[in-house]
Order: sequence, then C-alpha cells, then structure tokens
Amino acid sequence: MMTDRIDLHLHSTCSDGTSEPEAVARNACAHGLKAISLTDHDCVDGVRAAMDAGETLGVEVIPGAELSTTFEGKDIHILAYFIDCARPGLLNYLQIFRDERQRRAERIVNRLNQLGVGLTLEAVMARAGDGAVGRPHIADALVEEGYVFSVSEAFQKYLGYNRPAYEQKYLLLPGDAVRLIHEAGGLACLAHPGIYNRDDLLPALVACGLDGIEAVHSKHTPEQVRRYEEFADLCGLLKTGGSDCHGSGRGEPTMGTVYVPYAFLERLRGAEVKGRST
Ligand code: AMP
Ligand code: FE
Ligand code: FE
Ligand code: ZN
Repeated sequence: MMTDRIDLHLHSTCSDGTSEPEAVARNACAHGLKAISLTDHDCVDGVRAAMDAGETLGVEVIPGAELSTTFEGKDIHILAYFIDCARPGLLNYLQIFRDERQRRAERIVNRLNQLGVGLTLEAVMARAGDGAVGRPHIADALVEEGYVFSVSEAFQKYLGYNRPAYEQKYLLLPGDAVRLIHEAGGLACLAHPGIYNRDDLLPALVACGLDGIEAVHSKHTPEQVRRYEEFADLCGLLKTGGSDCHGSGRGEPTMGTVYVPYAFLERLRGAEVKGRST
C-alpha cells in the first residue's frame, strides 16, 4: 500500500550499503515508500539505476549523495539532493575523492600490517567491488579473516577515530561541499546532527550555507527529532529525514523504521525550483 512516507537517506553497494541500487528501490516499494533518495557516500554512480528502477516501480527517486567533510576534527556528512549528477565539477571532485579513498585504504592496510594483522589490500578492494572503498569494507574483511569477531570490534580495536589503524580522509570543508552541491544545482543538508554530539558547532555549520538539516534519522531519539525540527524552523532551514539504511548485510536494516512525511520533499522541491529560477 502506498503511503505518504518517504526516506531521503539510503545507501547501496555503490558505497558501503549491501543492496544494489535497483534493490534499494525495490525494498522501498515493498515498504510502501512514496519517494526515496539514494545518498551514497561520495558517489552518484547508483543514482541512474535507482531512478530507472523507481520509475518502473512507481517510487519517486531523488538524485542524492552524502559528502564527507571535516570540521573542527569531526567527520561531518553533508547530504546533497536534486544534484545534476552529470555536472563536471561534482564528478571531478568525486573522482579525486575516490582515488584518495583508495590511497587511504592502502595506508590503513599498511598500518594493520605493522600491527601484525595480515590483511591484504586485494581482500579489501574485493569487498568494495566497484564502489567507493571505506572503513566498513575493511571491517568486513577483518571479520571474514577472523581477526575480530564483529564490525564494531574492528572499529573499537583498529579503525575508529584515535585507534591505531585510523587514517583521516581527504579533507573537505563543509563550506566547500555546500559550494560543490550548489554548483551542481542541488540542495545541501546537514546529515544526522545527533550523531556528532556537538550541537555547539551547529551555528557555524549553518553559516556555511546549508539549505537544510536532517532532523529525522534512525539514530535520533524522539527528543532529538523534536529539537532539530525546532532548530530548523528557527533558522529557516528545510527539514529532511531518512533511515540511513545500509541494507540487510550491515546490522539491522532500518528502512521503514522512521517516519518522514512527503511534505518534507515538497518543501525541498519548492526550494530547488526557486533556486533554479533565480
Ligand atoms: P569511512 O567513510 O570510510 O570513514 O567510513 C565511515 C562509515 O563507517 C560510516 O558511514 C559508518 O557506516 C561506518 N562506521 C563508522 N564508525 C563505526 C563504528 N564504530 N561501528 C560500525 N560502523 C561504523
Ligand atoms: Fe555508511
Ligand atoms: Fe552519514
Ligand atoms: Zn549515510
């Protein structure tokens, strides 16, 4: 049954999700979602396939991405919506970022080797496939090869911030991400503010030119959802929301567990159309 529910934060195998882009659209249809956005980490490769599948299934698919940035030593994610995925500026940047991710994976594997963990880059890259390689792929390889019991242990012991195999990603400032997104005709929204535990950074982040903020997220408590919705209204920001589901192969799949109304998307679209005409 079709509802007015949407989900604007979903990952596929094009980054660290475990469902193909088409399968993400199929799952969304099975959950009765009216619209979704595919927001892979630093990658738009799955957008076309998800949109084509969505068209067949009657699920609206909004082109999206989740850009990794760094601010005050924190990993801050910026969601992009309604981007033109063929815009050279954005594509060039994503290619540079992907190459950098590969070099970072190499550095992490080197560190692990120095720590006595005999993981190979090939094993990691095999897990990433054609997608942008990230720490979750390395964590999976560590579990698979018996070095740790779980992905969370892999992060605790080796890959997490300040752990011995931690390597920083290519540094992009939030303001630069916002510019890239705007140049590609899209809207820039702060992803999952509740995860950062740094609400003190919010005013500076908003000042980077954000259009919206992800008030609804599967890791936000109802109290946080209310607080971020209020914050958005107060600052004149758009509200977005999504499950951040990474598929059934990565913990509990969260698609369908958050309530995001279609009205959020209508307001986003209104802002996007306004942006286009100015
Ligand atoms: P990367 O972009 O390579 O730095 O990887 C970041 C991704 O790793 C996040 O989007 C999460 O999916 C995952 N992640 C980060 N920290 C943890 C953790 N402590 N346990 C499990 N997954 C994590
Ligand atoms: Fe992820
Ligand atoms: Fe994120
Ligand atoms: Zn995400």
